[in-house]
Amino acid sequence: MKQKDKKQPTPYSGRLRAISLPDVDVLDEGRESAHYKTQRAYSKHAESFKEGLELIEGRVSEIHSNYAYIIESGGTYYNATLSGRLKQFLYGSQALAAVGDRIQLDISQAPIYRVEHILPRSNTLSRYAGGSFQKEIVIAANIDQVIITSSWRMPMIKPGLIDRYICIAALEGLKPVVVINKIDLCEYPEDLEEATDYYRRMGYSVILCSTLSGEGMEELRQILKDRDSVFSGQSGTGKSSLINYLEPSLKLPTAEVSSFNEKGKHTTTQATLIPWSFGGHLLDTPGIKTINLHSNAKADIPHVFPGFESFAPHCRFRDCTHSHEADCAVLRALEEDVVPIERYDSYLRIMESL
Ligand code: GDP
Ligand code: ZN
Repeated sequence: MKQKDKKQPTPYSGRLRAISLPDVDVLDEGRESAHYKTQRAYSKHAESFKEGLELIEGRVSEIHSNYAYIIESGGTYYNATLSGRLKQFLYGSQALAAVGDRIQLDISQAPIYRVEHILPRSNTLSRYAGGSFQKEIVIAANIDQVIITSSWRMPMIKPGLIDRYICIAALEGLKPVVVINKIDLCEYPEDLEEATDYYRRMGYSVILCSTLSGEGMEELRQILKDRDSVFSGQSGTGKSSLINYLEPSLKLPTAEVSSFNEKGKHTTTQATLIPWSFGGHLLDTPGIKTINLHSNAKADIPHVFPGFESFAPHCRFRDCTHSHEADCAVLRALEEDVVPIERYDSYLRIMESL
């Protein structure tokens, strides 16, 4: 048995860097390119067979540079680099592999570990560099769901923002989960029901919870279990508190304490995949202000706005914008009160902002 260069996961000490899901305002092109690049790299590799490799499956949990990866496999962490052949696909400063990538690690040369294959991604979470080239920066790959965190009060729930987040999740190929925290601040439970009724009727998972009372927290854990999630939502809605409640060992500083240890904080600029003790992972990402999506969003919003994916196929026109068209299933649903006027207004506001 070869001596493995085991690295225990260091206790995580960063303040949760919520991904401020993008305003849908700034949208860019080229979102297919990263998927394509991985596919291409993978198929080239599959062709060239190299002897003597001892490959194990792993997952990229952190990237320190183009050549320094932390790979998790079966609970063990390996410091790894890229194989020579993968390195030839590196260009500029863009990393070839992203946090969350499923890879094959060659352990035959232990304690030197090399990433030999990057497996095709099921999705990516990206943002685009500024400037005229708008190079795609993949923040993470293979993330299952976005926990869209709102609070009932402080700050006040903003359904229009939930709608935007749901659109963005759909465009990124991530499952949205609507979480309303701080329900201890709600006097009338009917109000909560009313605020979330549409999302439930349209088939979204909605969790009403409170880190103070503990209500809804087991339900949230069940949703997170065995999946890879990223928390998103306005600051102050309680994301760090929710995570600490579920995984106290992470000790993320919440609003009360974060000002004290701002200096000593862990400063990776890259995303990190943190395992939950109950299964699955939490993706922590640096504060990213604009994860701008692709330029076709305006054309896609009529299909991905919450609930509209079930109506849009029944519109007469495939490119129906649900505004002035004849025989529009969304306008019909609006008349029949299946779609509340508030949600329809929110839809129009998103469309106008693009
Ligand atoms: P983040 O910015 O989204 O990570 O939010 P924090 O976790 O830092 O929480 C912001 C504030 O909300 C803190 O003062 C928390 O104590 C408070 N908070 C978190 N969860 C709850 C809750 O369920 N109920 C109430 N009333 N306050 C909460
Ligand atoms: Zn329509």
